Amino acid sequence: MGLNLWQTVKSLVMRNDAEAFDEVESDQDPVLELDDDVRTVITGAMEHAKGFSPKVIASWALGGVLALSVVTSAFAGGSPATPPNAPEPPSPAPVVQAAPESEEEPQASDVRVSVVVSEQWPMEDAEAASVVVEVTGTADDGEEVAQSVSVVPGSSRALILEPGAYSVAAKTSEVTLADMVFVASGQTLAVDGSGDDLSATVTFVLDEAKTQEIADAKAEAQRAAEEEAARQAEVERQAAEEAERQATEAEAARQARAAAAEAQRNEQTVYITDTGSKYHNAGCRHLKESKHAISLSEAQARGYEPCKHCH
Ligand SMILES: [Zn+2]
Repeated sequence: MGLNLWQTVKSLVMRNDAEAFDEVESDQDPVLELDDDVRTVITGAMEHAKGFSPKVIASWALGGVLALSVVTSAFAGGSPATPPNAPEPPSPAPVVQAAPESEEEPQASDVRVSVVVSEQWPMEDAEAASVVVEVTGTADDGEEVAQSVSVVPGSSRALILEPGAYSVAAKTSEVTLADMVFVASGQTLAVDGSGDDLSATVTFVLDEAKTQEIADAKAEAQRAAEEEAARQAEVERQAAEEAERQATEAEAARQARAAAAEAQRNEQTVYITDTGSKYHNAGCRHLKESKHAISLSEAQARGYEPCKHCH
């Protein structure tokens, strides 16, 4: 469809006919619209290369059209030292893409990707030493772009991005460092093809609410631990108290048994005689003359002593 640039230029040069320009314009070729600059380049090439073959002139003219932005001023000055470098006549297919109306190819841009952090950011923390920033989007030529770069907080790294629309964001949008929560905000980035240097920033700020939640949770855990320790201490105190009480009870019981045994022994019935100073068990041979029953405690109270034969 349409006219091929090379063929058009060659045709114009070989015919060397001003009316040819009008013919081309009347064709309304969408690829090749012959504006005044193109016309100047071609006619300039024809003027300054008189005597060469039309093919050579056409080559020069085509080179001039393709390098229009450079060549126009030279020919407009009226005395170019040399024609632009004459390219080998290119094959038609690739030349079609170099339409004169696209004055410059879209340029990639250098993009500085910065990471900015709030003052609370723990710089000394090894985990906080760098942040991975992801750049994703679609270039104008349709290619999906996904790059990631590790950036030291407070500094920047350079990327080259083709024209397109991108998103610049932290790989991890929420990070917890030294019991503080930081959230990241990125940005969109349009690379417009001008080739100008650009910058993009990812910013981390302290999330005070979430950080407070961590502090509250730690305080609660601390309080619970202290409560548990106090409860444990109380259990141990009660156990010690119970052991003490049981020991006291056991001692009291022992003393009670001893006392009961003593009382039992004291209430034992013994026997005394009319004349002796000893007390006896029943059946003792010293009880043949006289025998009077008396309680042991009574006998002891009255100064009687145990008989050596029966006690
Ligand atoms: Zn006796």
